[in-house]
Amino acid sequence: QTQELSQIRIDYHVALQALMEDGTRMVCTGRMHTERICRFESLCYSTEAEEFVFFHSNASVLLPNLGSRRFQPALLDLSSVDDHTTQYFNFVELPVAALKLMPKPVFVPDVALIMNRFNSDNLMHVFHDDLLPIYYTMQQFPDLDQDSRLVFMEGWSEGSHFDLYKLLTNKQPLLREQLKGLGKLLCFTKSYVGLSKMTTWYQYGFIQPQGPKANLLVSGNEIRQFTNFLVERLNATTDSGGEGYIVVFSRAVNRLILNEAELILGFAQEFQMKAIAVSLDDHSFGDLVGLISGASMLVSMHGSQLVMALFLPPGAVVVELFPYAVNPEHYTPYKTLASLPGMDLQYVAWQNTKEENTVAHPNRPWEQGGIAHLIKAEQEHIIKSKEVPRHLCCRNPEWLFRIYQDTLVDIPSLMSTIHQSVKSKLPLRKVKSNSVIYPGKVRDSKCQTSVQSAIGAKLSISWQVPWNLKYLKVKEVKYEVWIQEQGENTYMPYILPYQNYTFMENIKPFTTYLVWIRCIFNKNLLGPFAEALTCNT
Ligand code: UDP
Repeated sequence: QTQELSQIRIDYHVALQALMEDGTRMVCTGRMHTERICRFESLCYSTEAEEFVFFHSNASVLLPNLGSRRFQPALLDLSSVDDHTTQYFNFVELPVAALKLMPKPVFVPDVALIMNRFNSDNLMHVFHDDLLPIYYTMQQFPDLDQDSRLVFMEGWSEGSHFDLYKLLTNKQPLLREQLKGLGKLLCFTKSYVGLSKMTTWYQYGFIQPQGPKANLLVSGNEIRQFTNFLVERLNATTDSGGEGYIVVFSRAVNRLILNEAELILGFAQEFQMKAIAVSLDDHSFGDLVGLISGASMLVSMHGSQLVMALFLPPGAVVVELFPYAVNPEHYTPYKTLASLPGMDLQYVAWQNTKEENTVAHPNRPWEQGGIAHLIKAEQEHIIKSKEVPRHLCCRNPEWLFRIYQDTLVDIPSLMSTIHQSVKSKLPLRKVKSNSVIYPGKVRDSKCQTSVQSAIGAKLSISWQVPWNLKYLKVKEVKYEVWIQEQGENTYMPYILPYQNYTFMENIKPFTTYLVWIRCIFNKNLLGPFAEALTCNT
């Protein structure tokens, strides 16, 4: 015990000295605040002021050095949600000399990842906004290893899914509230601030109606690397019994399936396999993961519990049920997830179109879809409407009213919807996901030309296969050739199964053509164009 204390004392003096001499040092990645993650040495935090502090010395580094653009609007986003005004990070600056007048700093020795959780009580947000981004931010910076410390600055208590965050590193995450207990001035020896947004696939509709993010950068492979990690940390065991089974995810509090027992029976009969009901309340998370990772089909009302589709095996079917007047095409977080390249999930949406099968709750509090607080005309308008128009997040009363309805599921209609999109018989044979490999450039391309007449010419082009082809088994190899007359904006495109071809149609004598060639594997894997060939007829 004494030795440990003296050890800390020695470290303390070294650390204090380093802070006094070097001040704070920051180097970031990313050109914009929405893309930025910063690495700090000696970033401090005043628990009294509730502000991060950057200490300037002759040795401090501040890159990017933005001047007052640092406040337009912020240095970076603390959560993975893009450019949300409640998620901005900044620090205040002081000269190191000010340390003499301040409370003695307390040093946090662990490498810290400082960030905001976006909504720690909602499972979709937990996975999509926090867990996946944390996991891949840690992969990006190797000193964020198993012994690093997550620091949650959004200010909430642990929340309903804290155990999941605890799986990511071996140290208990720190909450903002707990920082006060550690001291008045905390200094993080080494820290990273911000989260990678590379893995997020959905925007929640703060500035435009919700939908998939514009440029998706994640594939099923990365998602499954992450879920494999979690499955291992949870010690979850997959039920891999050969027959296959169907999991129906039920909600116990709201947005109920009113004929759940009948529905489960219906599934068992229709697909001749076991069907089981699960819920977040009745199962441990590890058990749920085990069950879902062996299932052939996951059925659920629209809702955050459907993010558990992350754990489905390749080839499985996701069936999402929508209440009356809620258009499935307007709410696609789970469809987008299931459709990510390489997720290899089949997605089916079903909507209740029969008003007599819906049970609304106009008298509940507004956040559970109640509308009693609205003026009569508005209530009537909502009740009469047959579809919620597209809207922004998060308090649209018509949306809340409709999404918190309970539904009596019309089983024949649901089964026919499923059969329309799932043609193969369940359980589907194990889908082997082919890793996606793109062609390299075609090589040694050449052209030969000859003039045939005053108006006609020939253009013969040949090329070699991409270098990586000889190491691959590719079902179909084709080439795309574009022939562009120099100076023109348009070109003639051709798809060819050969490595050489003579073009005669529309080829003019005494003309310069640019020829662009690229290889295509299996119809849709487009390689890069090789450098343009210049051919003079
Ligand atoms: N929840 C639940 N059972 C219910 C209703 C909600 O387990 O009957 C959970 C739900 O999975 C989510 C959280 O409580 O993680 C918040 O639910 P809410 O309806 O606000 O969000 P949604 O599921 O629509 O995203």
